[in-house]
Amino acid sequence: MSSVKAYGAESATTPIVPLTIERREPKPHDVQIEIRYCGVCHSDLHTARNEWGNAIYPCVPGHEIVGVVTAVGSHVKKFKVGDRAGVGCLVDSCRECANCKDGLEQFCHSGAVFSYGSPERDGSGITHGGYSQSIVTHEDFVLHIADNLPLDAAAPLLCAGITTYSPLKYWKVGKGTKVGVLGLGGLGHMGVKLAVAMGAEVTMLSHSPSKEKDAKRLGAHRFVLTSDAAQVKEVTGYFDFILDTVSAEHDYNFYLGLLRTNGTMVCVGVPPSPTPVAAFSIIFGRKSLAGSLIGGLPETQEMLDFCAEHNIVSDIELIRMDEINEAYERMVKGDVRYRFVIDMATL
Ligand code: NAP
Ligand code: ZN
Ligand code: ZN
Repeated sequence: MSSVKAYGAESATTPIVPLTIERREPKPHDVQIEIRYCGVCHSDLHTARNEWGNAIYPCVPGHEIVGVVTAVGSHVKKFKVGDRAGVGCLVDSCRECANCKDGLEQFCHSGAVFSYGSPERDGSGITHGGYSQSIVTHEDFVLHIADNLPLDAAAPLLCAGITTYSPLKYWKVGKGTKVGVLGLGGLGHMGVKLAVAMGAEVTMLSHSPSKEKDAKRLGAHRFVLTSDAAQVKEVTGYFDFILDTVSAEHDYNFYLGLLRTNGTMVCVGVPPSPTPVAAFSIIFGRKSLAGSLIGGLPETQEMLDFCAEHNIVSDIELIRMDEINEAYERMVKGDVRYRFVIDMATL
């Protein structure tokens, strides 16, 4: 084991503070990565503050991890020292169940091991995420990052990118699909870029009037301010597909009303408390309300390669490690343009 510097939460009600954690020495299939950048996902905040009720402390968040390989185990085939590498939300799974075999490791029947706050499969402890100097991960869960992608702006692809790419692909969004992306934050801005790259007609649905210009700059064809009744009326019954990325409580019924017949709304945002859905909201128009969780390893690599081909990265605000608590406060206020990324050189 080696001690590495990290930042994390010691309880739900205390700020993110410097900590020391232990990382294992690389085993035969492990890749050791010096972390250069780590994106800040709203899930980090939900977890650090135990808003979902499943946090384990100390909690070292961070699952948008990019860096450079510094050591590899004797059996590692996919990576060598010096390679650029990424780790997302998943670090282990059983590899044997039907979902693992289908590349849906996030739904592993034995329970996927997430990058932070998950018990390791061998009982060796609880995983710690990317707000740290380095990470040691089995090569099956390490991703390649193409040379043309800037490492800092590519970091958010590891969660925000795959979480929006996966449902867009699964529901076959493409040329001519009328897509609404709800919430312009980290996930939302990737959803806009990816849906546009897939050929869809994209509308940004936001409760922040100040984001209209940015939505257009990101490629959205239209902007609808969700608090403006006249603007909402124009898109009532309009969308084939809505990608809901909102992190706070909101009324699903209201947004289901914006779907056309046979339309689908997919929740990727995870508000801490449940919201009632009326049967009437989905039976009229045979609508679907669905969910989606990140994406499996093969699809994550596919997304990274798609982004490399289309030159898609995140719009980021680079922060110092000790600015993390301030970044969390701004995230709660919806003041993220559009992903905070920690420069690990400042750790
Ligand atoms: P974020 O950057 O904070 O963006 C969330 C956006 O939601 C805000 O920018 C804001 O957009 C909108 N919003 C916030 N409060 C709102 C309110 N009270 N009413 C209406 N809209 C509000 O967060 P993120 O990192 O993109 O994550 C979004 C959610 O997805 C979080 O709950 C996170 O945990 C979840 N998540 C899920 C997965 C998955 O696999 N399903 C993966 C990653 C993250 P506007 O200002 O444009 O309205
Ligand atoms: Zn995330
Ligand atoms: Zn499995």
